[in-house]
Amino acid sequence: MESGQFRKQIPKIAIKEELNHVIITNFKRIASKLKQKPQKLAKFFSFDVGRETSYIGHLGMLRIRGFYMGDELEAILEHFINLYILCPECSFAGIELYKKSNGESFYNCRICNVEAAFPHENRFNSIMFRA
Ligand SMILES: [Zn+2]
Repeated sequence: MESGQFRKQIPKIAIKEELNHVIITNFKRIASKLKQKPQKLAKFFSFDVGRETSYIGHLGMLRIRGFYMGDELEAILEHFINLYILCPECSFAGIELYKKSNGESFYNCRICNVEAAFPHENRFNSIMFRA
């Protein structure tokens, strides 16, 4: 799917403010649209904001310590999509990430069929490429 069209399918982040926290109330739905485990996406938010987050499984919500505006959280999600969802070659949504037996990080695109070394250097890769 073309990246603009893909982004339109992702629900806008819905937030609720609490004392010392902000809660993303539709977090599980967003993760499922991205075909990601919410726990893993939660770790990315924690990594990107540098703050503690906790995924509340039974509610499908993410709690983040501190105050963040919807726009700031959308930017984090955008960062994740750019790194791990869109193909670096054709920029369509549809890559699969995997590790080769020698430990190298690779991606495979279902749209343009490219199979190549994952090009984005990011400290979060060690978590993202873990099964
Ligand atoms: Zn591609």
